[in-house]
Amino acid sequence: MTDCLFCKMIAGEIQPDVVFENEHVLAFRDINPQAPTHILVVPKEHIATINDLDEAHGWLVGQLYLAAKAIAAQEGIAEAGYRTVMNCNAGAGQSVYHIHLHVLGGRQMNWPPG
Ligand code: AMP
Ligand code: ZN
Repeated sequence: MTDCLFCKMIAGEIQPDVVFENEHVLAFRDINPQAPTHILVVPKEHIATINDLDEAHGWLVGQLYLAAKAIAAQEGIAEAGYRTVMNCNAGAGQSVYHIHLHVLGGRQMNWPPG
């Protein structure tokens, strides 16, 4: 997707602050952090929203969570706790239409979320 911000990052056209990368996912610091640790984990395949997932994506979605687990350990927030969030469409506040798992930690996370 030529007009997708996260695809441009994956292609190396834009350089985010990368904290984790493997064959399937790229993870980088959010430019507008909502917690001391706020990282976005994105699949290297362009998928616009959760609604666009199909059965074949199940394994890839699992990779997002395995990356989140590794990143939490790397960032030192695994034991204290952290939150993972994936927003879907405008009503949930999705602003970049390439799915991404937010990993938030380093402070007490409240519930319900805003
Ligand atoms: P969402 O609102 O769930 O779609 O999340 C999109 C996230 O992308 C927001 O938290 C933004 O702060 C973040 N974001 C937007 N542009 C950039 C960028 N250039 N580098 C890193 N994070 C970004
Ligand atoms: Zn994309």
